[in-house]
Amino acid sequence: MKEVKIEKCPFCGGEELIESTVSSMVSGVCVANGETRRAILFATVCRDCGSVVRTYCKDPENLYPKKERRK
Ligand SMILES: [Zn+2]
Repeated sequence: MKEVKIEKCPFCGGEELIESTVSSMVSGVCVANGETRRAILFATVCRDCGSVVRTYCKDPENLYPKKERRK
């Protein structure tokens, strides 16, 4: 997984960004055996304006292993 570095809020220019969890999940279905995998969503929130600058899951490889990736 690539490292993404966000230094400023693109909306207000605020520099205080908080990592928080989102009470939501993303799920992926394994192509090989139909098993459903889930990952918790995380969000980077700007403390100054409250904008969610980024939402992501921390282990996308676990959700969709590269070898199973659809073309
Ligand atoms: Zn902001």
